[in-house]
Amino acid sequence: MSVGIVAAVIVVRTSSARATAQLAAAIAELARPTDVVLLSGDLGAGKTTFTQGFGRGLGVTEQITSPTFTLLRSYEGRLTLHHLDIYRLTLDEVPDLGLNEMLDGDAVILIEWGDTIAPLLGADRLEVRLRLPSGDFGDDDREIEIEPVGRWAARDRALRAAVAPWLVEEGEQPC
Ligand code: ADP
Ligand code: MG
Repeated sequence: MSVGIVAAVIVVRTSSARATAQLAAAIAELARPTDVVLLSGDLGAGKTTFTQGFGRGLGVTEQITSPTFTLLRSYEGRLTLHHLDIYRLTLDEVPDLGLNEMLDGDAVILIEWGDTIAPLLGADRLEVRLRLPSGDFGDDDREIEIEPVGRWAARDRALRAAVAPWLVEEGEQPC
């Protein structure tokens, strides 16, 4: 069995929606055609907020709104951004989405609740897991795990540099 490139999970923390959007915009600078980003986290964790920042980083000027009831919205920037929210889908409906067709040309896909379909995807993806705070942390704090897989793992150093302002130091309290 071939094992893809692996890289350590990167843990960051933001203290506002604006910061999460800035973090996402910084990551978007590294995006290349046919990239896939999977966003997971409870309702209100910040998946759509992340997507809005990512879009801004790609130069999308149109307002990015939640695709919860539309499944898919697409935006034009440096790359085309396909934004999906598959909360209401079951796994067997996913192949019908036509993800591969969507990735034709200069497009990237961001999928909210994307962790459910990770097993169906290829070896290349950026997994972003957003966590709402518990205990003593403020309502606006989010701990965000960023796991680069495959081609994203090959960009590990650039990724770490991009998110450096929000990195959680080793030994710091988890959210
Ligand atoms: P999701 O798409 O995961 O359901 P949204 O992005 O729609 O979540 O909503 C996140 C909500 O939390 C927004 O109202 C946003 O303003 C708020 N928020 C507060 N702090 C943060 C933060 N650090 N990161 C992201 N969103 C935050
Ligand atoms: Mg959302």
